[in-house]
Amino acid sequence: MAFTLPALPYAFNALEPHIDARTMEIHHGKHHNAYVTNLNNAVAGKPEEHLSIEEICQHISKYPAAVRNNGGGHYNHSLFWTIMGPQAGGAPAGALADAINAAFGTLDEFKTKFNAAATGRFGSGWAWLVKTADGKLAVTSTPNQDNPLMDVAEVKGAPLLGLDVWEHAYYLHYQNRRPDYCAAFWNVVNWNEVAKRFAAR
Ligand code: MN
Repeated sequence: MAFTLPALPYAFNALEPHIDARTMEIHHGKHHNAYVTNLNNAVAGKPEEHLSIEEICQHISKYPAAVRNNGGGHYNHSLFWTIMGPQAGGAPAGALADAINAAFGTLDEFKTKFNAAATGRFGSGWAWLVKTADGKLAVTSTPNQDNPLMDVAEVKGAPLLGLDVWEHAYYLHYQNRRPDYCAAFWNVVNWNEVAKRFAAR
């Protein structure tokens, strides 16, 4: 198979009480797993089965909806698991903190803008912090399983931080209270991983 489900880098219950174990188990083992299976089915026997998921996203307009939806789903969730963690929360440091302050004023102003993107996304989608081609930071959101790497994205850039606002990401614990889930997310953000992504792009 071209693409595989990455192991969750911590236990299902590691993000409690902010994200519950049952949600993590279903989200990783059922939802993400289904994106991987459906992506593999969609690319089987085609040249794109030899491409990286990043390369597929960058040229997503060339591919059918099944690749866009499931390829995006695979990329987005693979990122999502790594930018959260049990020893997380707090605040970014170093060059990432400087870039956030330069772009948004303060960390709190950044969080307010990011949460507005997350809660304002109608239906299913994602909120993002991206590094744009000019090296600056921006907040954006995408519908469904689209992401800012995609050539169809309104705001393009390298994703540094992403928040899944599909109901499957929070409904068991938060029901319709998406803003509460978005607020709790900051307690589990792995800023070291976000900083690594910032430095690499
Ligand atoms: Mn999801």
